[in-house]
Amino acid sequence: MPELPEVETVARLVRPHLEGRTITGADVRWERSVGGPTAAAFRDAVAGLRIDRVWRRAKYVVMDTSRDGSRVGALIVHLRMTGRLHVEDAEHDSGKFVRVALPLDDGRELRFIDVRKFGRFVHATDPAEFLAHLGPEPLSDDFSVGWFHRALASRRRVLKPLLLDQTFLAGLGNIYVDEALHVAGLHPLRRSDRVTRAKAALLHDVIRNVLTEAIEREGSSFDTFYRTPEGNPGSYQHQFQVYGRDGKPCRRCERPIQKIVVGQRGTHLCTRCQPVPRPRKVVPTTVTPTVRLAQVADAVAIGRIHTRAWKSAYRGILPDAYLAALDEDERIRRRRAWLEHPPEGVETWVIQTGKRIDGFAVSGPSRGRDTGGRVAEVYAIYLAPKRVGCGLGRQLFAHVLSSLAAEGFHETVVWVLEANVASHHFYERAGFVRDDGHSVYADEGFSLPVVRYRRSLR
Ligand SMILES: [Zn+2]
Repeated sequence: MPELPEVETVARLVRPHLEGRTITGADVRWERSVGGPTAAAFRDAVAGLRIDRVWRRAKYVVMDTSRDGSRVGALIVHLRMTGRLHVEDAEHDSGKFVRVALPLDDGRELRFIDVRKFGRFVHATDPAEFLAHLGPEPLSDDFSVGWFHRALASRRRVLKPLLLDQTFLAGLGNIYVDEALHVAGLHPLRRSDRVTRAKAALLHDVIRNVLTEAIEREGSSFDTFYRTPEGNPGSYQHQFQVYGRDGKPCRRCERPIQKIVVGQRGTHLCTRCQPVPRPRKVVPTTVTPTVRLAQVADAVAIGRIHTRAWKSAYRGILPDAYLAALDEDERIRRRRAWLEHPPEGVETWVIQTGKRIDGFAVSGPSRGRDTGGRVAEVYAIYLAPKRVGCGLGRQLFAHVLSSLAAEGFHETVVWVLEANVASHHFYERAGFVRDDGHSVYADEGFSLPVVRYRRSLR
C-alpha cells in the first residue's frame, strides 16, 4: 500500500505533465472511484478546470484546480492498495483497469488505474475540509521534536498503532513505521507516554531520514502493485532493515527478525535492538515480603487490587469507558465467592509486606487442551499499582511456579493481551517462551488478540 514516499514520488513525476493543463472532459469507467457523484455530475464538475498545482498531503495526491482564474476546489487522489496515476497519449492503451480518464488540452490523458478498485479519484469543492482530519506532515516544520514528545506523552497509546493513525501523524503506513521503530530502537508495543524526550527526538529524526531516503529512491515496491507513473518500481525495499525480513538476521545484531501482530497489522522487529521496556524501581520497604495461600478474609484486598491493577495496567489498551465502569464491589464479591468455593484445583496466593497485601495470583489446571493434568495455568497475577516494579511480582510468581512444580505439573501456560507490553516482558524474564497459541479477549464493544506463553517446570 503506497505510503508517503510512494505518493510523493507519484506527485513529483506527474507534476510537470499536469501543471498548467486544462481538463477537457471525463471518462468515468467505474463510478465508485469518483466517490459519490454520478459520472455525468463528475464530468460537469471537472470539465474546463485548469490544474494549477500538483502536491501531496499525507497519502493523497492533490491537484488544485481553477476555472477562469478563480480557484475551484481540487482533485484529490487516494491510491489505497493498487491505484496508479499515468499521463499518456490518448491513443496509448493503458489496459482494462483504467477507472477514470481525464482528457487534457495537449492531446494526452490523465488516467487513474486501479486493479482492486479501493482507490478514490474525487473532486473536492472544499479541499481544506476534506483534508482537515489529518495530523501534521512529518517532513514539515509542524512536526517538531517538542510537539512530537508532548503528543506522544498525552496519547498514552501503543506506539505502532498511534504512528499509523493518520489523525496523529500523516503519511506513515506499515512499512515505514516498522522501519523507523527499528532504527530508533523502540519496541512497537511500547506505550507512547513512556517514550523519553531523548527517544522521541531520535524517533522524530529517524522518521524524517527514513522518509527522505525512501523518496530519493522513489519508494518501495515490495509485495504491492506500486509502480511510479513511468511504470518503474521504487528501490527502497533493498534498504529494509526489518520489513518483510522475518526469520532473516538483523542487519545490526544478527538475531532473527520476528514478526508479531500489533493492532491487526503484521509487525517486524528485532527483540534485541528493540527491547521491551523494563520497569526500574527498588523495593520501598525493609520488611521481607511473604507469600501464602489466600483466605476468605483477603477478598476485599484482592478485589480492590484487581480493580485498580486493571485500571492502571490496561489504560490505553482497553477502552477508557470500559475501565471506568469496572466496579470494585462487584469484583470483591466475585473474589469472595471464589475463595469460599474454589473451583477444582484452583489456588489463590497473596504476597504481603507486614499486614499489607501487595498482590495476588490465581493458578490451577490449564483451561486449554493441554491435557493430562500435566499443564498448569496462571490465570491471573496482579499487584497494587504502587507496588509494580519492585520485584514483588517476580517473587510471587516464583513461589506459585515452585508450588505448581511440587504439585506434579510439568509445564505452565499464561495468556497475555498482545498489547500488554509490560506483561510480555515480565513473562520473558521469568523464562517463558511465546508459542503459537492465540485467542481473543472480547467484551462489550471491543475484541483484542491474546497470546500464550509457556515454560517447563522441570
Ligand atoms: Zn537486532
